[in-house]
Amino acid sequence: MTIRPLVILPDPLLRRVCDPVAVVDDEVRALADDMLETMYDAPGIGLAACQIGVMRRVVVLDIAREEDEPAPMVLVNPEIVWSSDELSTYQEGCLSIPDFYEDVERPAAVRVRFLDRNGAAQEIEADGLLATCVQHEVDHLDGVLFIDHISKLKRDRVVRKFAKAAKEASRTPA
Ligand SMILES: [Zn+2]
Repeated sequence: MTIRPLVILPDPLLRRVCDPVAVVDDEVRALADDMLETMYDAPGIGLAACQIGVMRRVVVLDIAREEDEPAPMVLVNPEIVWSSDELSTYQEGCLSIPDFYEDVERPAAVRVRFLDRNGAAQEIEADGLLATCVQHEVDHLDGVLFIDHISKLKRDRVVRKFAKAAKEASRTPA
């Protein structure tokens, strides 16, 4: 397992639609393992493959609390097949937008269909933090970021801040 560098805003890779995985093979499992290692190292509770620059529909999650046993989940080609009318609000963050947090309102519960790491079809119903996390990560696969769900004023401000930081970093001699 390898910790991979994270793709950070405003990298255009974050805005691309990822390709479906045809077969869940050893290569996909190795990718998921690298993603989990990268997510735990960050640390974070969810990561989409595009956040390490791999444009495939793979997501990893672990919402277990620090004091509990790790509970890694691998979702290949995840698809939200139902969302509740009821909404809930969580303060979200993103490993690709470090140190920025904002409240986001989303459906409180979702049903998600996906392939697990063995390629078996699964469907689970998620609520609470897991529901929010699944929606945040599935959004990534379609080039959507959590800042797209906040006010334009706040979004423009954070996008400007990261664009400026990237420009300054590129000017700094290595
Ligand atoms: Zn994210």
